[in-house]
Amino acid sequence: MTTLKSLLLGTALACLVGCGNEPTSPAPSLHLDTLIVNGKVYDGSGRPPQALAVGISADRIAFVGDHRSVKLQADRVIDASGLMVTPGFIDPHTHALGDLLSSERHLNTNYLTQAVTTVIVGNDGEGAYQVEHLAQRLTKNGIGSNVGFLVGHGAVRIDVMGRDNRKPTAQEQKAMEDRVDQAMREGALGLSSGLYYSPGNYADTDEVVALAKVAARYGGLYESHIRDESSYTVGFLPALEEAITIGAEAKIPVHLAHIKALGVDVWGQSEQAVTMIEQARGNGQQITADQYPWRASGTHLRNALVPLWMLADSFEKYQQRLRDPKLAAELNAAIAENIRRRGGPESLLLVTGNDPSFVNKTLAAIAAEQNITPVAAALMVLKTGKARVISFNMNATDIERFMRQDWVVTSSDGNDRHPRKYASFPKKFVAYVGEDKLMSVASFVHRSSGLTADIFGIDQRGYITPGYYADIAVIDPAQYAPQADYRHWDRLSTGVRFLLVNGVLAIDEGKTQAVFGGRPLLKKP
Ligand SMILES: [Zn+2]
Repeated sequence: MTTLKSLLLGTALACLVGCGNEPTSPAPSLHLDTLIVNGKVYDGSGRPPQALAVGISADRIAFVGDHRSVKLQADRVIDASGLMVTPGFIDPHTHALGDLLSSERHLNTNYLTQAVTTVIVGNDGEGAYQVEHLAQRLTKNGIGSNVGFLVGHGAVRIDVMGRDNRKPTAQEQKAMEDRVDQAMREGALGLSSGLYYSPGNYADTDEVVALAKVAARYGGLYESHIRDESSYTVGFLPALEEAITIGAEAKIPVHLAHIKALGVDVWGQSEQAVTMIEQARGNGQQITADQYPWRASGTHLRNALVPLWMLADSFEKYQQRLRDPKLAAELNAAIAENIRRRGGPESLLLVTGNDPSFVNKTLAAIAAEQNITPVAAALMVLKTGKARVISFNMNATDIERFMRQDWVVTSSDGNDRHPRKYASFPKKFVAYVGEDKLMSVASFVHRSSGLTADIFGIDQRGYITPGYYADIAVIDPAQYAPQADYRHWDRLSTGVRFLLVNGVLAIDEGKTQAVFGGRPLLKKP
């Protein structure tokens, strides 16, 4: 294997430096499984595209160069005339684990059709610490894409102390650190947190710093859905400051999840946020972010509108508090304020719920229909149990300012009922990439593959380089487009002609194949 790999590497590199110009000793004949010719190759580094052929042998890229100058044989030749050849994209923020563990959706088709070959799971503080066990289950189940893991502060906290709204004892703190340690030894890429959510919100900065130090020992990163993206509690900029502080104190790279200025109170603060991040980067800290290209976020209605102290302990306790007359005045005031913060009752679109008569209606429409106030309408829906909303709370200036930064990569934060799960990468390509837009195609590709692999420490992926794993997309730029929208959230995107995951053709001539080429990506310390 080593001999074959170095032979292939040697040939490819020789070709890259002197194809066709200098007399070289007769090239050895290479046998490839797949050879992609005539495409425009974006190698993931951000460099302009080159007209090169890409050859694949087993699960690796075996050749990159001018195929006419080397003796090549391939079982399958793909003509990529007029098409882009890119590394498979990497989505650093998903909620895809449930799908990958399921028996119906483990092909991860909604990501493959966006040209995504690797998804990260465990974001927002949600990742379980038993990484090895999870990897084994996924391997047994079969998965269509690769998957990398983050261990979640929230998950670890729930495991040790439930949803208690208090500081951990020294013993509990140690128990949380031990779990993060186990996850990192078993191959997690880093620690995630969701300090906005229950129970992440109940933690102080020091608690998180101590856990981040454990992840830092193994070369992991700290990924965070920050404490406040809006004006709910500490405010957007102080929450950002906290994430930067955690990075400085734990000496760990910081990655900001789905960066945004959420709600009317903080619109425009992207400017100060960018300045703060640039400053920290200037001081030598590694700070990066990801972003999804949509004006609306998506979450549970309770996370959007209910104050966090209401959500402590358990779902049942929370449902009791909703009905407690002693809490009604305080709760009503908080909900009214949160509706205003998010842009008013017209900005909140119910997309799931136990009562189907509320689904696909805005809070304003439900209130009008029932002839009640928007606060009463919200309470009525909350009392029926779990419900999700699409929340139109971002403005175009902030979205574009974040997107222009070269430390911001593409993500989906994909969840059911929001089109971002099906269409984030092509949506960004169509809306923000190309001439006269916010970035070049080469930069888009770099910030959807190579840079993301660098940030998350994903080895030998994200670039089209000889010896690297063969995660490769062949994309028709004229057809690469979202088909999903807010009303039709689960339409598959179009334009990916071919997709290889570890050398396995997952999309062939635009058709998704029933093959499971994906692997758990464990980072070995
Ligand atoms: Zn999040």
